[in-house]
Amino acid sequence: MPFSVAIIGAGPSGFYTAEALRRLDRDYRIDLLEGLPTPFGLIRSGVAPDHQSTKRVARSYERTAADKAVRYYGNVQVGRDVGLAELRRLYDAVVIAVGAPLDRDLSLPGGDKTGVYGSAAFVGWYNGHPTHRDLEPDLNVTAVAVIGNGNVALDIARVLVKTPAEMANTDLPEHAAEVLHAAPVRDIYLIGRRGPLEAKFTNVELREMGQLSDALPVVDGGQLPAGPNPAASERDQRLQAKNLETLRSFTTLEDKGGDEGQRKRVHFQFFLRPLEVLGDGHVEGLRLERTRLEEGRVVGTGETIDLPCGAVIAAIGTRAQPLEGLPFDDRSGTVVNRRGRVAKGLYVVGWARRGPTGVIGTNKPDADEIARHIEADLTDAKATPGHRTGRAALEDLLAERGVTWVSFDDWKAIEAAEIEAAAPGMPRKKLISIAEMLAVLGGPSSPGE
Ligand code: NAP
Repeated sequence: MPFSVAIIGAGPSGFYTAEALRRLDRDYRIDLLEGLPTPFGLIRSGVAPDHQSTKRVARSYERTAADKAVRYYGNVQVGRDVGLAELRRLYDAVVIAVGAPLDRDLSLPGGDKTGVYGSAAFVGWYNGHPTHRDLEPDLNVTAVAVIGNGNVALDIARVLVKTPAEMANTDLPEHAAEVLHAAPVRDIYLIGRRGPLEAKFTNVELREMGQLSDALPVVDGGQLPAGPNPAASERDQRLQAKNLETLRSFTTLEDKGGDEGQRKRVHFQFFLRPLEVLGDGHVEGLRLERTRLEEGRVVGTGETIDLPCGAVIAAIGTRAQPLEGLPFDDRSGTVVNRRGRVAKGLYVVGWARRGPTGVIGTNKPDADEIARHIEADLTDAKATPGHRTGRAALEDLLAERGVTWVSFDDWKAIEAAEIEAAAPGMPRKKLISIAEMLAVLGGPSSPGE
């Protein structure tokens, strides 16, 4: 009899864990439970719509899903449709792979004003995530401040300034395209509380900012140090040197000219930390304090600057969603764990384990480690809980509760409908509500199919 493993979350870390278990020389039955009908987590709704080549990694997840040992249960929300404690009773092992989908709190006076958005919500909105499609950000503004110096901040800035032609071959949903392309936004301020060497941009993404048809990056050359930090590791020094070279190249970029030239500007602003969102109900500006670094720590200088802007987007990282019965560290926004082990038969992987760091592939070694833990724990005679019913019992439970779950074939039908509806050149026209997705299927999946 196979061991039954439930993985909660069908994003990269969930799929890599399924794949790692599948590769082990043992009979596993692996069920991936996902709250949305659609799989792939951040690949679908986090990776920017103009980064389609990054999204191709989902093909390897499709191969995993095609294995008989693996079954996908979409539209099943743990905590609503089935409890974590129930899953732990039904399965030999349960893996939490829920990512970090919630915005971290900006904790700033005025942070609740209209016009302040978190990056998870904003990115989810322009990626057609059902939870965020109704965000309706007010972009009828000329200046936007994006807080944070990571890749998400770059994604947001790029999507804000790209032209309709530059977004033509993407899956940017209509509701977002209409707002983004009508917006009079001219200036984006990328606010870093530390300096260019400490920015978390990866170089490929940073270089893209110099290749935009209607926007130019603006960097104050006076803020760029001569070279990398000699105290940093060799690897970090190499990355710092590349980013410095790119930022330096931005200082000499010139407007391409033409009728209107490049109308928009992305201003890289370093050594500034946000103090307060200004305005009377709606954002009118951001009060910033100049900073300096003392042994890597941010220290305020007391000098403040008021930056006029009509919207503030906080791209300062995200956190996991606590689940009932799961020990949670509120400070880091992650599940409490020891090298991925949470409790007997319970594991955590990916961003829910280590926070939102690294690239998609970083989740692979993480998943391999969890698979090794599961293997070791389940084959340890003393710890073996005995083979549990897993899949059959889950399907009975879902049927009993009238839960409409979506199989991987159902997802392929949803995907086919999205591809068919796409305009020429577009990869897909995303369905952005759960009801629309289920309508494609014409009714619920029959349990046990
Ligand atoms: P991130 O890389 O951790 O960047 C967060 C930024 O927010 C940092 O600059 C951080 O500054 C700043 N920050 C945090 N708290 C702040 C505060 N209270 N006030 C002001 N600034 C604050 O996070 P991310 O951009 O959300 O990206 C998450 C992960 O996804 C990263 O590993 C990223 O590389 C990855 N990603 C990759 C791609 C890609 O490869 N194309 C695209 C998107 C995301 P400090 O450094 O000073 O803390």
